[in-house]
Parts: sequence; C-alpha cells; structure tokens
Amino acid sequence: MRLVILGGGESGVGTAILGKKKGYEVFVSDFGKIKGNYKEVLIINGIAWEEEKHTENLILNADVVMKSPGIPEKSPIVKKLFEKGIPVISEIEFAAPFTDATIIGITGSNGKTTTTMLTHHLLKSAGLNVGLGGNIGKSFAWQIADNKYDSYVLELSSFQLDGIANFKPHIAIITNISPDHLDRYDYKYEKYIDSKFRITMNQTEDDYLLYDADDEAINEWFKTHTTKAKLIPFSLTKTFSEGAYIKNNKMEIKINREELTMDTEYIALEGKHNMKNAMAATSVAKLMQIRKATIRESLSNFQGVEHRLEKVLKIQNVQYINDSKATNVNATFFALDSMNTPTVWIVGGVDKGNDYTELMSLVREKVKAIICLGVDNKKIIDVFGNVVDIMVEVSTMTDAVKMAQRLTEKGDSVLLSPACASFDLFESYEDRGNQFKKAVKNL
Ligand code: ADP
Repeated sequence: MRLVILGGGESGVGTAILGKKKGYEVFVSDFGKIKGNYKEVLIINGIAWEEEKHTENLILNADVVMKSPGIPEKSPIVKKLFEKGIPVISEIEFAAPFTDATIIGITGSNGKTTTTMLTHHLLKSAGLNVGLGGNIGKSFAWQIADNKYDSYVLELSSFQLDGIANFKPHIAIITNISPDHLDRYDYKYEKYIDSKFRITMNQTEDDYLLYDADDEAINEWFKTHTTKAKLIPFSLTKTFSEGAYIKNNKMEIKINREELTMDTEYIALEGKHNMKNAMAATSVAKLMQIRKATIRESLSNFQGVEHRLEKVLKIQNVQYINDSKATNVNATFFALDSMNTPTVWIVGGVDKGNDYTELMSLVREKVKAIICLGVDNKKIIDVFGNVVDIMVEVSTMTDAVKMAQRLTEKGDSVLLSPACASFDLFESYEDRGNQFKKAVKNL
C-alpha cells in the first residue's frame, strides 16, 4: 500500500512514522520547505520525501493520501487526487484505526485549546494514562506510533474533521460556533457549521456529544439534523435534568443519575466563557468516572493556558492581561465581558471580516481608551470613534504598552485582546503575546 503525505509538518511527519511502522510504502511531499528537525526524522527513518514541489507521478499513484490540515481542498494537487478518486484523508482518520484507546475529541470556534488542556489535566491528575494531541503538541499519529495510552484528548479543527470518513470519538465536545475561516468554506457559514458537526457523524448510541446549549448556530443545526450520540448540553442560563449548568454561582453537573456541585469561586479559570469550558471538561471527567474530590481539586489548581486571558503583572495596581489568542470578535467579547474594572483595550491586526457591533455595549460600559495596534485601523476607528473618548494608533507593541500605562490609573486594567489575526506586525499570536509580556515587564 502506498501512502502519500502532503505536508511535512507535525501531522505529516507523525503520519509518516506511523505509516512506515505499519508497513506502508511512504512518500512525503511538501510544496514549501520542510523544517530541519522534521527532515532529520524522515531521513533517520528512511522515509522518502521531497520539498518545494509536488511531483505528480510520485503522488497520483497513491492508494491513500493524508493531507495536512493547512492545505486547502482547492489546491491543484488535491483537485487532481479527487478527480482520480484517490481517498484523501486527515491524520486522525489515518491514525485512529491503529489504537483502541478511548478518544475524546474537542472542536469549536473558540475554547478548544483551553477545554482540551483542562480535560487532559482532570484525567491525568486522576491517574489515567492519557495522551494530549491533535492541534496541540505532538501529533496523534506520532503518539500512536511511539506511546501506549489508554485514552487521548484531542483538539480537532474543522480542517481535521473535513478529512474523516470513519473516525469517531467516544466523547465529542463542540465548545461553540461562530464564523471563522470562512475563506476555506466558500464564504458559506452553513458549510463551516456542518464541518464542525462531522465530529458526531459516526457516533453511536454508546457515545456522547457535549455541546453549548446557549449557542445559536448549534441550536439551529439541531432543528434540522440529528445524531445517535447521547446529548449532554451545558449552559450559563438554562437548567437540565441531564447536563451541566450554572445556578446561584454554583456549577452543577448531572450525568447518569450522579450529581456534582462546585462553587464557581473555587474554579481557578475566570470569565463566563471559561465556566463553559469548565462544564464541558468536568462532564468528560464525570463520564470517565473520575472521583468528585479529584475533579474539584484539579479545577481549583488549573492555571489556564498562555496567551488566553493570561494575567501578566500588576504594576502600580494596574492589571495587565494577555489575550493575544483572541483572533476573532467572539473571543474578544468574552474577554471584555470578564473585565470588572475600567479597561484600556489594545486591539487590531488583520481583520478577517469582523463585525464589531456585538462588542458595542461592552465597550461603552468598560473601555476608557482604545489603542489600535495594526497596519490598517480604519474600521476600528470608524466603529468606536464616537463611543470611546480616547483613541490612539501605534505600530509597535512597546509603544502600545507605554501608551497604555500613561492612560491608566490605579485600579484599571490593560487588556490585549486583538479580535484580529497577528501577521501584519507579528509572526504569530504567540509572538504578539510574548512581545506584550516583555514590554509589560520592561515598564
Ligand atoms: P481555540 O483553541 O479554539 O482557538 P483557545 O482556548 O485557544 O481556543 O481560546 C481562544 C480565545 O478564545 C482566547 O482569547 C480565549 O480567552 C477565548 N475563549 C476561550 N474559551 C472560549 C469560549 N468557550 N467561548 C468564547 N471564547 C473563548
């Protein structure tokens, strides 16, 4: 069997290792450059590869092709594969048949990484032999080749889910859905929503789907579609006989006739959105039969994930918060919503078609000054110019942070929550967040 892998990154090289181990004839082809450390791995393992080209006669003779999530379906080589009827699948589809571990798959527009890390933390702290993968860290395929875990918590993007045929998680989570990456879905929101729901398409009556019952797109989908999986909703506003919710500042989880209650003030993560993430992760822990005391302890000591509402420092009683990972309006909505002091808000970057109007009332209520940090800030200035008294444009992070310091007084907060992608001024959202933290530490 000939396995061709398009893309020599983490998921591509992981799939190559696993494929080779399972006896496939493997070929890796990358239209860009393959990173040095990955090249080394391919060479050491005797795996054939090429870079900066796609040689068609070495690709179109594949029995199966694993396409990395970054490569669009519209790219010429993928189109040719489709025309020839060669199956094109994603890493998780290829890898899953080689393990009988219990799979917990987490998708959604925002909150995937936080929910994945928290779920992993809950299960690992309880002593389970559990792996963490998908879009985070070491690829799922690579782990199956190298490790023997009993269960995996996987962060799954819609691109990973587009390439599945038979993959099914035992427990699936859809954290929420809001428009994102629409360029890859012909600018049709329905297509993106359907893609997220592929996570449940192969689930059976023995499986579970956990979902945000406050989410409009998710509720709409359920009006016209069904799943065989058992449904476990979570909500900030509704209550359920089976599901998770917040009532009188208590998180209540009711699953399989068991109940767990916990005061939200003991949950280390802050903000309403994180209460949703906590409900989802705790529901998984309950389904995996983790003891209540262990769950409570782990929820109270989980310190969150870097660049997601990360508290950096308090200087002269001003709290600096790094939410650089907020690359869309919905994420920034929850960040602003969680602020309970007057806030200087650093926003801007590459706008992916943002509609800022849903932020209007939060900005009116909480934001005392806006610092625009992008190459083109026109839209932000147009939208908020009449709403906030002070608006400043800067073009470096150091200037943004210095300006923020000048505009604050004791008791205020400075929030970097850009609602935009970072690549006009930064290499990545991590680079943006790291520059922010460095500038704050240099104040
Ligand atoms: P993802 O992996 O889906 O991008 P992250 O956990 O990295 O999600 O969080 C991305 C951004 O979204 C952060 O700014 C974070 O504060 C915010 N966020 C986290 N959870 C949620 C949620 N449930 N709803 C909305 N925004 C969220």
